[in-house]
Amino acid sequence: MTAQWFLRDGTVFNPDEKMGEALTLSRFLSSPRQVNSTTAEVTMATLCSRCAGQGGSNCWSHTGWECFKCRGKQTGPAKKVKLYTKEKLVKLDATKALRDAKREAKNAEKAQAEAAIRRQEIEVAKQAMQARYPQAISMLEGYTGDNTFLSDIQSKFNEGKPLTDRMASAIITACERENTKGDWQTYLAAVESGFEEFPTGRTTVRGFIRSYKWKDDRFGGSTLKITLVDERGFVIHTTRPESLSDLLPRREDGTVELDAMLKSWIEFEVTLSHKEGNFGFGTRPKKNVINFIAFTDDNHPFHRT
Ligand SMILES: [Zn+2]
Repeated sequence: MTAQWFLRDGTVFNPDEKMGEALTLSRFLSSPRQVNSTTAEVTMATLCSRCAGQGGSNCWSHTGWECFKCRGKQTGPAKKVKLYTKEKLVKLDATKALRDAKREAKNAEKAQAEAAIRRQEIEVAKQAMQARYPQAISMLEGYTGDNTFLSDIQSKFNEGKPLTDRMASAIITACERENTKGDWQTYLAAVESGFEEFPTGRTTVRGFIRSYKWKDDRFGGSTLKITLVDERGFVIHTTRPESLSDLLPRREDGTVELDAMLKSWIEFEVTLSHKEGNFGFGTRPKKNVINFIAFTDDNHPFHRT
């Protein structure tokens, strides 16, 4: 009795197997030739790779229906395949499973080692940043709000990305601003609630810089505009006094740290015109700043309340 043969994928070898669209083509072109007690070899036909065994297609009717690759024969090149006994197949599968498991374990081990190295690198990078910018990092790590600038920097820091001097000072400014945001807005609202009358003409304003913004002028340059909440409750939008820049800190590259003007208390002379309610505009101030108190200064009115 002839042994039962199996293909490598576990299917039973059937010498009469048919294939093709109409199941008229023989899959196997020879009888099994035994190689040893567990293995045999057989010649196997394949379907044409262009027409998938159909011999032609209506899509090609403009050049003639017949597939030019197989000339309508429906088959591609024949190839030798191995057949195995059940016993041999079980052994082959076991060997393959073992090999796969070993490779998987090796890959997992490698990935784990790489992850450990990466974690260590990140930790070293974070410690270096902590040593360099202790205040900024402790504020950054303590921050739990939803400010996108700060949460972006938090995730970069947690990936071990380096910070610059500029980022460190921006972190401190942003955290300070976030921490006092609610209080500050309440404070400014209280100042505005004291509004009685909008002064017009030349006026000495004394109050808090709520925001600033660059605005393009007609001459291709840009002017720095500020919005100020005066202690008397009115709000003005005006060009900033020239000398304000001299009162602000500078970065290492010499540029002015404009954010430092936010919340600061300032006094200067300006000509006012009323718009509506407690709001109006100031003309370009001609004189220097009379008084300036940075928000970080203990003498700032906010800290004295
Ligand atoms: Zn073909």
